[in-house]
Amino acid sequence: MRHVAERMKPWVIVGGGMVGAAAALTIAEQGYRVVLLEPKPESEFDPQSPHDLRISAITADNIAQLNTLGVWEDVIAQRAQRFDELAVRELDGPWVEFAGRGGAPLGYMVENKLLQRVLQSHCKKHPLVHFKTDGFSHLARTESGKRTVHTSADEAIEYSGLLGADGAQSSVRDALGLGTAGASYRERCLLVNVETSSVLPTRTWQVFSDQEVHALLPLTSHHACLIVYANHDEILALSDSKQELDAWLHTRFVPHIGDFTIQSSGSFPLRHQQVLTPWSESLCGGVIGDAAHAVHPLAGQGVNLGFRDVQGIASALKHCSESEAVTAVARALKHRRRENLLMGYGLDAIAKGFRSRHPLVQLCRRSLFHGLSRQPSLRDLIGRIAGGRLLSR
Ligand SMILES: Cc1cc2nc3c(=O)[nH]c(=O)nc-3n(C[C@H](O)[C@H](O)[C@H](O)COP(=O)(O)OP(=O)(O)OC[C@H]3O[C@@H](n4cnc5c(N)ncnc54)[C@H](O)[C@@H]3O)c2cc1C
Repeated sequence: MRHVAERMKPWVIVGGGMVGAAAALTIAEQGYRVVLLEPKPESEFDPQSPHDLRISAITADNIAQLNTLGVWEDVIAQRAQRFDELAVRELDGPWVEFAGRGGAPLGYMVENKLLQRVLQSHCKKHPLVHFKTDGFSHLARTESGKRTVHTSADEAIEYSGLLGADGAQSSVRDALGLGTAGASYRERCLLVNVETSSVLPTRTWQVFSDQEVHALLPLTSHHACLIVYANHDEILALSDSKQELDAWLHTRFVPHIGDFTIQSSGSFPLRHQQVLTPWSESLCGGVIGDAAHAVHPLAGQGVNLGFRDVQGIASALKHCSESEAVTAVARALKHRRRENLLMGYGLDAIAKGFRSRHPLVQLCRRSLFHGLSRQPSLRDLIGRIAGGRLLSR
């Protein structure tokens, strides 16, 4: 580790979610001091407790990064489910399957709160990270040119660089004056954790129809998270009645997984949002994770894109001197924007393409599935992208 800590003002990171906490550890590991602001730190995690509804499919490239930070072992020791296969199909069409190579898993299903808890506890133990349970209030710049973050406890912290990792409703993004483009899908994502009577394979899948998308994330051999992306009002109406929800889900999922009982459920509105530029030169600050890009969750890429922002920061800091650090991080985030836009608008096209009843779009869709089912090399390529093996390092 380099010892630049005392010579420079700290980096301030706002938001200790999965992305912010990973960024704090990564920057500290490069020898820089970090102040991490997170007003709602995760409490103890009990591996015997029922699964939480917020689950992420973490891909192989990001697992390698979490391993480098020394946190993955602690996650896997508590609770995570590997998945070896990913399958998609149109309603009533044949399955198109993607698998990891040489017995390697495609990734792991991990509860957000567990990953957050482990990352935050490593931050608290790191000698160069100062973890504060205060929120972000505003930014200021003095006449002498000092840039400061003001916390909810009215403390002013002078910084060398600032990163907002405070989620899709980011206040840091607003304070930095970074605009966004995006729109609501007018859809909700319904998440339902269930216990199954039959054993579940380590396979995640999605079924597309022009009305809705159904998906399954395996959690244990007898537990899964069932996901439905569908019309906003329909999902809200269903959420009101447990009986109706139960019957509605049984019609859709029993043919795939047999009988099940509902343990918990919830739903979220879906929105695609991209920051127009991820960095403010004048305020020496930028945004990462959902603060920079909130994408449709249908390919499980949200937090993985955030972790790739962190990989970009790690690689920038590794190859620059301490005086170049802020410029190098700014450059890395601008570079990341291309992949983030591509993924965001790619998922946008898939989400809209699968809703369309236009005969031409339906024909394209069918041809795509047909082509995929006959092209093992294309399936292999998509499998590697889904597993994060071809994406930026
Ligand atoms: C239904 C659904 C399913 C998903 N499934 C997947 C999946 O399978 N795979 C995947 O990769 N992604 C998935 N995602 C996306 C993933 O959950 C997000 O991309 C991820 O949580 C973003 O992490 P983050 O750290 O950027 O933001 P967040 O998780 O939103 O964390 C932001 C943090 O900032 C803190 N904060 C907020 N305001 C302030 C403030 N003023 N001051 C200080 N701190 C503040 C908050 O307390 C929080 O801890 C899914 C999302 C949804 C909605």
